[in-house]
Amino acid sequence: MSIQVFGMQVSRGVAIGRAVLVASSRIDVAHYFVAADQIEAEVDRLRRARDTVATELAALKLDMPADAPAELPAMIDVHLMLLHDETLAAATRGWVRERHYNAEWALSAQLEVLARQFDEMEDVYLRERKADVEQVVERLLRELARSDQRARAGGIAPPSPRDFAGEDPLVLVASDISPADMLQFKRSVFTGFVTDVGGRTSHTAIVARSMDIPAVVGTREASRLIRQDDWVVIDGDAGIVVVDPSPIVLAEYRFRQRQSELERARLDRLRHTPAVTLDGEAIELLANIELPDDAATALEAGAVGIGLFRSEFLFMNRNGNLPDEDEQFEAYRNVVVAMRGLPVTIRTVDIGADKTLDRMTPQELRHEHSLNPALGLRAVRWSLSEPGMFRQQLRAMLRAAAFGPVRILVPMVAHMSEVRAILESVARARQQLQDAGRPFGPVALGAMIEVPAAAVVIDRFLRHFDFVSIGTNDLIQYTLAIDRADESVAHLYDPWHPAVLDLLRHTIVRASSAARHVSVCGEMAGDPVFTELLLAMGLRSFSMHPACIASIKQRVLRADTRHLAALLPDVLAADEPGVAARDLLARTAQRVLSAGAAAALPRALEAPTPVDGARDGTGAERAA
Ligand code: PEP
Ligand code: MG
Repeated sequence: MSIQVFGMQVSRGVAIGRAVLVASSRIDVAHYFVAADQIEAEVDRLRRARDTVATELAALKLDMPADAPAELPAMIDVHLMLLHDETLAAATRGWVRERHYNAEWALSAQLEVLARQFDEMEDVYLRERKADVEQVVERLLRELARSDQRARAGGIAPPSPRDFAGEDPLVLVASDISPADMLQFKRSVFTGFVTDVGGRTSHTAIVARSMDIPAVVGTREASRLIRQDDWVVIDGDAGIVVVDPSPIVLAEYRFRQRQSELERARLDRLRHTPAVTLDGEAIELLANIELPDDAATALEAGAVGIGLFRSEFLFMNRNGNLPDEDEQFEAYRNVVVAMRGLPVTIRTVDIGADKTLDRMTPQELRHEHSLNPALGLRAVRWSLSEPGMFRQQLRAMLRAAAFGPVRILVPMVAHMSEVRAILESVARARQQLQDAGRPFGPVALGAMIEVPAAAVVIDRFLRHFDFVSIGTNDLIQYTLAIDRADESVAHLYDPWHPAVLDLLRHTIVRASSAARHVSVCGEMAGDPVFTELLLAMGLRSFSMHPACIASIKQRVLRADTRHLAALLPDVLAADEPGVAARDLLARTAQRVLSAGAAAALPRALEAPTPVDGARDGTGAERAA
């Protein structure tokens, strides 16, 4: 029976595929397809792991001390029985043979199926046997990891992802995914994501958006209602998930999927068209990235620089083994070199709140800590509490600046004491490099404006920083006291709130009049709904996911900043600025079209100039 699940749209477009349900505890399991000629070898890997675990369990039973509780040998017998039970063993082999899943993925897929069956059992005793299955699977997964390690130590390369694309597209369904785990799914086999929890600007959602595949979050129940292997449609535009769609619904969504592919191809042609408004204002469109490899995607999308490199993602999934100065330097230099002279804004680590170094999901975080982590030791507060690590990161950035233009951006600055400490740290880091005789380059130093207090006293900050970047995701969270990762208050997370608009405009106006570069790097910058508003406020630099650049450029090409600026007072004075902006824009569009000013637009859209701004340096000039 077909059902619909409602959530929040995160990443646009339509994905159609079979559901892969992944429990939070199993997300770190590798998901890849095995090539057809490797299937039997993969089944063998499973078999060997099972035999080793069986031997281990038998030995455990034999070595059991005489005074051990009687339940223990009985439990081992149950585990041995489960290990050989066909519902686990044969079905897992089935996932490998029929779907080409790697052994770990096949095991966790089958665990999901069995866990559901146990959950639905009436008998409490039988229901509790789910824990035994979990333990057996856990042992098998550990043994698979150990056997990979042994192979590696013996010089044998472990199995790696293959090119086989699978027969059906797959979408991932999970209750919750931490930002660190989401990162693992970048360039993975999944063509869409659904999660039960999370808000539109949670960091998990941000990473999902950066992958440019349809995603819906905050569905509350998707992982309970959807079953392993169900056919699922993810409507990323409406924030709807259709489970087991009827043929008519499926045909409609396939049609829409084709339409959005065509629209993408059309927008793609704008890639290297300069972003200039109808009245000749050049607009800088920069990219937000999480990992060094993303720089290539940014260039391909036509970004004229990196406006936000969220460096904290380099620090995640490291099991406590954080990157040292040299490793960080390599990563930053790779981005700087890849961007070929275009500016690269690297943010110092923004750890804390929903981004933990380990794999805790926001939900676990909330349970773990009774205090609100978003108000705690986060971002620059964390960096200043670890001054050695902070200077290490600054040194790595300064060294990378010897290879091209680097801007250092510090998140969540709110106090003048922090400003002083940041300036001192940068000066010391520079001195340390000088003393060590290591080459480094000049950097611009900037602050993120994402705490309301910083926006209010922006004039003081501008005396000390070369530029500012507005983090609207947090600015909205902290202005409205809404946890951005909490779906239960997501309806109150309102970028159009007059208080948010006042802080935004104030920051843009004050920075511009102090001749400081000002940019917006929160999700508002990549959402076409806000492009005209931000242009009207005087913003000329936007930083966003590479995939958003084309659609924002389309809005820019159609905009006339003089008309927009004239509309701004009415929007800001309205009780419902969002509604007022929509109405006024609709009327202006009419006026602009009838004045013939948009006549240039079809030319810009249909025949983009072949000039590659990123390569011929025009982008760099504009950005400079
Ligand atoms: C923001 O807060 O708007 C921002 C860009 O930073 P992050 O989303 O990483 O907190
Ligand atoms: Mg932020």
